[in-house]
Amino acid sequence: MSARKQTLVWLQGLTCCGNTQSFLCAEDHLMDEFLDKVEILYHPLLNDEEDPEYIISDILKTNKKIGVFVLEGAVNLNDKLADDIKKLCILSDYVIALGNCAVHGNIPALKDTNVVGLQYRRTTKGGLLGADFKTRSGYPVINISGCPAHPEWFISTVLSIVSGKLPALDKFGRPKEFYAYSSHDGCIRNQYYEWRVEAEVLGRKEGCLFYRFGCRGPMTGASCNRKLWNGISSKQRSGQPCFGCTEFDFPRENMWRTKYNMGVPAELPPGVSLRGYIMASGILKTFTPNRLKKRLFDEAE
Ligand code: SF4
Repeated sequence: MSARKQTLVWLQGLTCCGNTQSFLCAEDHLMDEFLDKVEILYHPLLNDEEDPEYIISDILKTNKKIGVFVLEGAVNLNDKLADDIKKLCILSDYVIALGNCAVHGNIPALKDTNVVGLQYRRTTKGGLLGADFKTRSGYPVINISGCPAHPEWFISTVLSIVSGKLPALDKFGRPKEFYAYSSHDGCIRNQYYEWRVEAEVLGRKEGCLFYRFGCRGPMTGASCNRKLWNGISSKQRSGQPCFGCTEFDFPRENMWRTKYNMGVPAELPPGVSLRGYIMASGILKTFTPNRLKKRLFDEAE
């Protein structure tokens, strides 16, 4: 007889479905293991029953226990759905807020103070469930931030719950395994960053995107360059800056531009002092290896 699968209920609030799409793009070996170990009782787009909403009303009516509850999308406190989501969280062993909207409200919360995430509204703890909420198993909401979140961050978190090895969380309730690193870690442009060689145009392979194009890789907790998207790429690898989409102050304005004060980036990476930055920049620019100043390929413009 096969082992019992972990039950999972996935609900959507105010969402663009980006996290469902990201989930569906997971690499095959991850998805196979997920489907092997997890039974999706309900997902608004994946259920093929005629009346899938019946599943949710039945759970609520009978107080049926759920293994993992996943919310994708922000919650409007004035919506009846808010009450249902709260009840489902109370019935669950583990609750996952998947993607920025479920985590802290994100774009839907920008102009509407009634819109929240499960345990945050923007950078303030609280949200729909309140700052002190814990699930039946004594765990706070597990926040898988990102716009959207990387499928492996989500699937691996669920699989560690299934295996009984609960993820260690950071101060924002995010699994450290994925968010303790910065998006700068593993970026193939690190040499350009160190020698202050800036990218001149978007989409090219050469240069670091921090100095002109607003890359927030060094300030952003995310493992996008350690666990590549679709197993092959990341924003920086494709020539675009990291927008810091896993952080709680996302979205920001002018995300493609680095703001400068008196010739120095207005925001320096954590741990870098203004004095150190200014002193090092002059030296590094003077001694930049020639190979980093050239195009990598003699390709036609
Ligand atoms: S492009 Fe961004 S992530 Fe890559 S090295 Fe530069 S600052 Fe770091």
